[in-house]
Amino acid sequence: MEIGTKLQHPEKVFPNADNPPINGPIYQTVKFAARDLQHVRNIFAGQEPGYFYSRISNPTVRELEVMLADLQGREDALCVSTGMCAISTTLLALLNKDDHIVVFRESYKPTRIFADVILKKFGVSHTLLSVTNMEAFEQTLKSKPTKLVIFESPTNPCLFIADIKKITAIAKTYGVLTVLDNTFSGFHNHGNTDVDIFIHSLTKFASGHSDSMGGAIIASSNIIKMIRFHCIHIGGILDPQSAYLTLRGMKTYIHRYKAQCETALVVAQWLSTQPKLKNVRYPGLKTHPNHELAKEQMVDFGSVISFDLVDSVKIDAFIDGLKIFHLAASIGSTESLVAPVTLFFSGDLTPEDEKSAMISGQTVRLSIGLESAVDLIADLIQALV
Ligand code: PLP
Repeated sequence: MEIGTKLQHPEKVFPNADNPPINGPIYQTVKFAARDLQHVRNIFAGQEPGYFYSRISNPTVRELEVMLADLQGREDALCVSTGMCAISTTLLALLNKDDHIVVFRESYKPTRIFADVILKKFGVSHTLLSVTNMEAFEQTLKSKPTKLVIFESPTNPCLFIADIKKITAIAKTYGVLTVLDNTFSGFHNHGNTDVDIFIHSLTKFASGHSDSMGGAIIASSNIIKMIRFHCIHIGGILDPQSAYLTLRGMKTYIHRYKAQCETALVVAQWLSTQPKLKNVRYPGLKTHPNHELAKEQMVDFGSVISFDLVDSVKIDAFIDGLKIFHLAASIGSTESLVAPVTLFFSGDLTPEDEKSAMISGQTVRLSIGLESAVDLIADLIQALV
């Protein structure tokens, strides 16, 4: 062969099955060669396992999917490019024109916007309720044929706890699918509930290191098969590099999550004693209105805290004064973050909805990382003066 040909066809090197790599390879390839035409037919028909094109599936991404399905206690998973892609792909796959869904005002702003702006364009309507009002939820399902409900627990940003048993029981009565965005809770929480579909932003606790984005949809094989079909045609797949970074992050997931929770509790307890703050909300605090419910439903309480500064403290001065907390989006990373709630998470809500979602111009969200509680509290002290 001449050099130009040889360069396209290097000899492939694979370790023997009894000599596997500790880290799975990053299959940085778009295509997989087929043995022969019948092989392709068999792969397409699902009669033989195999890979063909990375928009359909990729072994590095598949390794992550298998791991996440197992951790969340469901049959299968599908990984996509971001958490929002997991939400949008799931909703676009499950919904049809003229369907109606329930969304809660205590949820991530882009989820509300997706329903309010994008789903509306395709003839899907929604009712915006409060996750604290189960009577209104049941009444809505009773009075209006509804396809699904999407909710969070704890909610972003103000950490309401959804009563998962109640939501799933009411939804089942009316044949409504339940979609739980479990990003704040992680993969080791809520698996024992009746939720049909779990969503995660892998950008948060899974990758953990603020260096890759991703999303996961975790459910029964049948649901994932159906959503995967849509994903193949929508195209929002996870790339193998990000899958690898997420797999690497997952090696320390449980240790990071638990350490961040422990520090969050210490910081939240300290915050609750401060006269310049009020309404400190962390599900692990006994003063959280749903602490008992959180304890019943969760193994750990997460690493996000929210509170209101009293009126005499200027929010700009407080946030700009923090030195260790980064002013940045996201949660679940190894470094601690601070976010002004109205600027980052509202704007689409009416003043009444903001009030009931406990959002005001003085509301602050903290995401606790892996720094020591002593240093984080010292940073908060100096910013509160
Ligand atoms: N769901 C929740 C609860 C989130 O907090 C976020 C991001 O902050 C997302 C979904 C979206 O995730 P991503 O940024 O990976 O799209």
